[in-house]
Amino acid sequence: MKKFLSAFVVGVMIFSVLSVVLAAGYVGNANSKIFHYSDCSFVGKMNSANKVIFSSRDEAVQSGYRPCKKCHP
Ligand SMILES: [Zn+2]
Repeated sequence: MKKFLSAFVVGVMIFSVLSVVLAAGYVGNANSKIFHYSDCSFVGKMNSANKVIFSSRDEAVQSGYRPCKKCHP
C-alpha cells in the first residue's frame, strides 16, 4: 500500500509539472530576445539556461521580446 501511495504522489507531481509547462504557452530566449510558442522547433534547440517562460503574449512583448518569424506567436 505504501508503495502504491508513493507511486501515486510521484505521478501527481509529474502531472503538475507537465501541466505548468503546457499551460505556459510562450517561451522566450533571453539571449536573442525572441519568444516562441512552446511547441516551436526552436524551443527544442534552445539552451535551457536561456529559456524564459511567459504565461501570456503581452507579458513577453512588455518584457521587450519580439515574436518568432517562424511560429508567429
Ligand atoms: Zn518560434
